[in-house]
Amino acid sequence: MKNILNKIPALARNAILIARIEEDENGTPRAVIAWANLALAELFGYDLEEILGKPPSYFDGPDTDYEQLERIRQRSVAGEPVREEILYYKKDGTPLWVEGNITHIDAPEMDAPHFVSILHDITERRTQQEDLLRAKEAAETANRAKSSFLAMMSHELRTPLNSILGFAQIMQMEQSKLPEGSEHAEYLENIRSSGTLLLRVIGDLLDIAKLDSEKFNFEEEEFCLADEMQNFHAAWKNKAQEKGLKLDLSLDLSQTRFLGDKARLFQVLNNIVFNAIKYTKAGGVKVQVGEGASAEGVLHLVVDVIDTGVGIANNNLKKIFEPFERVGSDQSLSEEGVGLGLAISQRIIQGMNGTLSVESELEYGSTFSLSIPMKLANPAASDKPVPVHLPDRHLTGPAKILVAEDNPMNQRVIQSILTALGHEFEIVGDGKQAVRAATMGDFAIILMDISMPVMSGDMAMRVIRAMDSSIQTLPIIAVTAHAMKGDKERFLTAGFTDYLPKPIDVASLSGILAKHLGDAQAVA
Ligand code: ADP
Repeated sequence: MKNILNKIPALARNAILIARIEEDENGTPRAVIAWANLALAELFGYDLEEILGKPPSYFDGPDTDYEQLERIRQRSVAGEPVREEILYYKKDGTPLWVEGNITHIDAPEMDAPHFVSILHDITERRTQQEDLLRAKEAAETANRAKSSFLAMMSHELRTPLNSILGFAQIMQMEQSKLPEGSEHAEYLENIRSSGTLLLRVIGDLLDIAKLDSEKFNFEEEEFCLADEMQNFHAAWKNKAQEKGLKLDLSLDLSQTRFLGDKARLFQVLNNIVFNAIKYTKAGGVKVQVGEGASAEGVLHLVVDVIDTGVGIANNNLKKIFEPFERVGSDQSLSEEGVGLGLAISQRIIQGMNGTLSVESELEYGSTFSLSIPMKLANPAASDKPVPVHLPDRHLTGPAKILVAEDNPMNQRVIQSILTALGHEFEIVGDGKQAVRAATMGDFAIILMDISMPVMSGDMAMRVIRAMDSSIQTLPIIAVTAHAMKGDKERFLTAGFTDYLPKPIDVASLSGILAKHLGDAQAVA
């Protein structure tokens, strides 16, 4: 039996090595390989005779972690069993990762301390791990590059669109100057509506790219769904009426105050109702808001949007949620759209842990249903008075506005809109001039572009906010083509009073001025 046991180490397929601690000629302890099995020699690519009597450091190489080896040595000498992954090198120089189990052999009959190491080749696993790590890092770098490319694209595309839409709107405001019977009014409307569509497509493309590349963060704000649904209904009713359609809203909820991402919820509802109106020729659209099972603090919101439109064939019901998929007859395909609305909506609803589904009968109509768990707002908190932002200044007569904008085309757009709205204004071309003008003039509000030469708009805002004078509290509006999700919050947190995305929409600008100056000054 003893004989058999003696043979096992030599026959074992695991690599085994016994090191002995000796003293060199200076009396310094050093380890030498006293014994090794064939498996060890094969693993490292040597003949047994080549390695016997050599120190274990014989297997070290350029990337071996010497601090790790020193730690292992100290722990082994202290009698602690060690299990570590170590990078060694084969005879031909190839890296070899091993898992080493090193134990001190405590045998009084031996003349010197001995250690036994059992080594296991883990090169393949380590290489896979390293490849995975590298792939993950590469993907993260690519993702960051994609996000910044998207942000840049969004900015670059919106800036020229700002001029196109701005001038179209200005010319529409001055339609009376057009010669009678001229077709230019129609052309103008085409420019405006195509520009608006292009803007929506850009927004959708950026949205879907962001949704695909990033984990979605949802806001949590308190809102009253009943109020929001009324506004929503009012906004879409006219659109439906223009097509001779009815838009009904019914609301049957036991609670209406929620905590959640109102903007994303209504982005989905807007998409679905927009489609329902778009793909319905006669009849109408019904929006039914109700609730499903509720749990502690959570209400299951159920919204059905029912239309009497063209309907969707059974085999296309799945397809329509895929990006860029449009289905139906030539006529429905001739409607504006690129097939991104539902793909975005479904990603948003899934991100909110809800579901979006459809039932449809070709030529009779469709029902899109969404169901989302919504957090109920704390009823005690909702009784608290909501802070109301009152304009700082109550001026009489038209407002004096400072505009900081470097792009000459955009300067002309904003100049024409403010003139048409009857305001006085001064335009400067960079942030530094804006700070100077703000301190000299008696402005009621500043419209501040962000990307400007010499001094950026956000720097100028910060300089003004830090001033020791009354202009410190001036309303400063970020007017910018940085219009991706999260940009608005970023500007408001930085200290801007409000935010107006480019392309500038006349109604939004007028609304912002009304909000911060009082209606009397904003709309002349
Ligand atoms: P888009 O409307 O821009 O084409 P969507 O992603 O919003 O893109 O919709 C995808 C497709 O689903 C549409 O092209 C249309 O064929 C179909 N669809 C969506 N809503 C309806 C609806 N209410 N009635 C009929 N077809 C619809």
